[in-house]
Amino acid sequence: MEFREERLRDLGGLTLEMYKRDRFEARLVVERCAELVAVEARVHEIDALLDGSAEVRAACVCGAPLLLGARFCATCGRPVDGAARPQAPGEPG
Ligand SMILES: [Zn+2]
Repeated sequence: MEFREERLRDLGGLTLEMYKRDRFEARLVVERCAELVAVEARVHEIDALLDGSAEVRAACVCGAPLLLGARFCATCGRPVDGAARPQAPGEPG
């Protein structure tokens, strides 16, 4: 997963740079982390779909299916707690 490795390097470099400048912007780190977590969730989802172990339990408020055990929506990156809702009967999907 080259994209993920690249992002991890970016995150490390950014953190170090902020430390050196004595200007730590937590918001930037949080943004980068959220992006990385979304990438990881997406990879996990694809793996699960490929090996047939995917268990879709609900849908995110953005409409994307959420996998069992997923902590973040792979599509929009929202944390699953609070974002998930049970799929209403008759709803497509
Ligand atoms: Zn979502």
